Amino acid sequence: MRIGVFGGTFNPVHEGHLRLMRRCREELGLEKVLMIPTALPPHKQTELAPSAAARLEMCRLAVRDLPFVEVSAMEIDRGGKSYTVDTIYALKAAYPEDELILLVGSDMFYTLPDWKRAAEIFRLVSIAAAAREEGEQEAMFRQKTRLWQLGARAVVLSAPPLAVSSTEIRAGRGDAAPPAVQEFISQNGLYGREKRLGYDLDALTRFVRERLSPKRFIHSLNVASEAIRLARQHGADPNESYIAGLLHDCCKELDRESMLKTVGNSAIINDKIFLASQKIWHGFAAANLMQTELNIQNTAILDAVRVHSTGRAGMTMLDQILYLADLVSADRTYPGVEELRVLCYRSLPAAMLSALSFLIADLVRRGEAVYPGTLDAYNEFACSMREQAAGESGKTKP
Ligand code: ATP
Repeated sequence: MRIGVFGGTFNPVHEGHLRLMRRCREELGLEKVLMIPTALPPHKQTELAPSAAARLEMCRLAVRDLPFVEVSAMEIDRGGKSYTVDTIYALKAAYPEDELILLVGSDMFYTLPDWKRAAEIFRLVSIAAAAREEGEQEAMFRQKTRLWQLGARAVVLSAPPLAVSSTEIRAGRGDAAPPAVQEFISQNGLYGREKRLGYDLDALTRFVRERLSPKRFIHSLNVASEAIRLARQHGADPNESYIAGLLHDCCKELDRESMLKTVGNSAIINDKIFLASQKIWHGFAAANLMQTELNIQNTAILDAVRVHSTGRAGMTMLDQILYLADLVSADRTYPGVEELRVLCYRSLPAAMLSALSFLIADLVRRGEAVYPGTLDAYNEFACSMREQAAGESGKTKP
């Protein structure tokens, strides 16, 4: 199999990147392209850098309609500075029988001899380069000759250039980002844009009502109202909180098969503890459905919904608000709910610790597995509350 290897900062991904992958596939007969966002760009640093997870997500959104492209998190997972030579060695091990072709735009093509251990790269892969500007062909052919002299097998694509760049998008010029990526940027307020949620609340409410029994629909409205009050109390975004509350249970009444299908075929489905904990599936399914069917690309909302019954390490304020609003909404009447409700308005971390302690004790008593994210969250809140208590008792000492 001929596999294209396409690395970049993708900050953010744009039509020039997509065009390059399509053209390489056609001209070189590639069966697959691995698109690999870098962890930390060694060639360039940018001041307006969203998280690696956000860049990865934008790549996934951009290639939804390009089935031959697989977005790989290998460099982001490896962390630290990303060097192409390390990635190529890892890919050679993963695809020992296949031919790897490094895909680059002209700017990278000119700098190739300066890359770390360039001679090894030239030995392991061939290189295909695309022009980025009109009138570049001649310079690119000269560079190709130079590279052949250095032992590289390089070709220059005949594709006409599409002169767009991530820099332009970050600066708010042009519309070179694919539509789903533009939506992601505006919903998450990236690159200094104002956050814009732009949802039709009536349509979202209908979406939930159609999927739920009347009782659970009322619960969803109650959670949304509770979430908005908690957000106002603690200084979180009320709109994001309301949307998360409204949609958090939208998959709860799916049958087992549909639920797993909606979660998607990510690694998570094959996780033993996840499979054993059916009660937590609906959050993961809901986040996926919201993204694909409702075009909600706001990661704060999606993450909060995803982990609303598990918790996770590093819970954001919105995560905590949704988790707790679900437990103390107006329709909840179990013993102790009043105390927890009061605590939620006083301190989110204290309320989280109380709720997670109760949940974990209950799961342990019933001999059920505890999802790792729940334990991570518990440990973090337990430590931070102890630190806070120690700080407060220290303050009162003479
Ligand atoms: P920036 O503007 O931040 O420098 P960029 O638009 O160059 O970003 P990168 O993520 O740095 O995008 O590029 C990844 C790869 O895609 C590089 O090999 C680059 O040369 C190539 N590339 C980027 N834009 C184009 C384009 N318009 N046409 C062809 N190749 C491109």
